[in-house]
Amino acid sequence: MLNIALIAHDRKKEEMVNFVTAYEQVFQKHKLYATGTTGTKIMEATGLNVHRFMSGPLGGDQQIGALVAKNEMDLLIFLRDPLMAQPHEPDIIALLRLCDVQGIPCATNIATAEMLVKSLDRGDFAWRELVHKYKPEVSE
Ligand code: PGA
Repeated sequence: MLNIALIAHDRKKEEMVNFVTAYEQVFQKHKLYATGTTGTKIMEATGLNVHRFMSGPLGGDQQIGALVAKNEMDLLIFLRDPLMAQPHEPDIIALLRLCDVQGIPCATNIATAEMLVKSLDRGDFAWRELVHKYKPEVSE
């Protein structure tokens, strides 16, 4: 079981809900995390349980980033709105940067998200199980 983070900006939330619904059978095998509103919408539309952090603009991206920094998040699906300025742009950049620091697979659009979820379902993420198994303790 891997840890998957889901974030969608407002104009991408419907796309996220449709996506998670379509791949519910894959997602149900893993532990899901999301920013507040994204998580609520996913839970309303599916039978999935989602650990919800704060809303993105209030710090949810940073809370997910904290898990990424500790190399505990295995996949980030972040449907960003490329056409709308976000008040928490620095947090978004910081989260994506941390994914690059740790080498965490990260999709920022639905086409890549689809490829990563199919790859997850195929077992291509087995290396992340090893990361968890052999990860040195990180102090909080
Ligand atoms: P939200 O946060 O899921 O709480 O809306 C995501 C965002 O818009 O940054």
